[in-house]
Amino acid sequence: MANSKYEYVKKFETDDRLPPSSWIVVRIDGCHFHQFSAEHAFEKPNDENALNLMNSCAVSMLEQFPDIVFAYGVSDEYSFIWKETTQFYQRRASKLLSLSVSYFTSVYVMKWKEFFPHKELKGPPYFDGRVVCYPRAKIVQDYLAWRQVDCHINNQYNTCFWMLVKSGKTQREAQELLKGTQAKDKNELLFQQFNVNYDKLPQMFRKGSCVYRKKVEEVVKLDDTGNPVTRTRSKVAVEHVDIIGPKFWSDLPYILE
Ligand code: ATP
Ligand code: ATP
Ligand code: MG
Ligand code: MG
Ligand code: MG
Ligand code: MG
Repeated sequence: MANSKYEYVKKFETDDRLPPSSWIVVRIDGCHFHQFSAEHAFEKPNDENALNLMNSCAVSMLEQFPDIVFAYGVSDEYSFIWKETTQFYQRRASKLLSLSVSYFTSVYVMKWKEFFPHKELKGPPYFDGRVVCYPRAKIVQDYLAWRQVDCHINNQYNTCFWMLVKSGKTQREAQELLKGTQAKDKNELLFQQFNVNYDKLPQMFRKGSCVYRKKVEEVVKLDDTGNPVTRTRSKVAVEHVDIIGPKFWSDLPYILE
């Protein structure tokens, strides 16, 4: 573009490049999904199709943006970890955030039919987002542990709440009954009243979803003597595992290296 007398307006823009050598976390969260999930009759407390749709969008994110090394999702939120050294869009916060939110949202809409073939999308889903930088991998692990603990606490509460409601209590009564209860009490309630062993509920509900590139050995062809020729490929995987303890990270040190 040629210079014009209006060019000076560019000077009002601020430099929002994030500090170098730090992990960038973008967390997005569905706006008013309490309402959105009711409007689309999501199963309570956990609609499996809705979670799988979120997970599929996260996989697309890792395929689209190679510098995202890990993602963790639960309910209507997803966190995306960008590698420490990424130079994507010069690390500009507004670019990373807006690209993440808009790409995720578009994919969510495009894939809706795949996960809800019999449900019409009644309104535009939309997401908010924020960016936080963490200077060390250990803090990123703590960040993710924080989200997984939250997943556990919320899921335990919601499981009790909806069991009570489905058994005939009003939402207010269920709320009152659960007020002040500890984790132990909730497990007890589920077991005594509903014969539900919390630990036996699906992993995806209890642990949330982890998305990352996994190194897999792939047989490309057989050689002349009939032996398989393999090569290592990286494939985006979705798993519902513990990321609070050190094991996950020590088994897969390349994720946050
Ligand atoms: P905000 O706009 O402030 O984020 P919100 O209504 O989205 O408000 P959240 O705290 O983000 O509130 O909670 C997400 C809501 O969406 C919860 O009420 C949750 O029950 C519902 N929800 C999200 N995903 C699912 C799902 N897979 N199955 C059932 N309900 C879901
Ligand atoms: P970046 O990702 O950096 O924004 P870009 O390819 O989107 O790259 P822009 O400078 O934003 O580049 O330019 C938008 C491009 O899209 C132009 O090449 C323009 O020709 C094309 N484009 C956008 N809207 C239209 C339209 N309505 N009709 C024809 N071409 C369009
Ligand atoms: Mg929110
Ligand atoms: Mg929300
Ligand atoms: Mg949320
Ligand atoms: Mg453009």
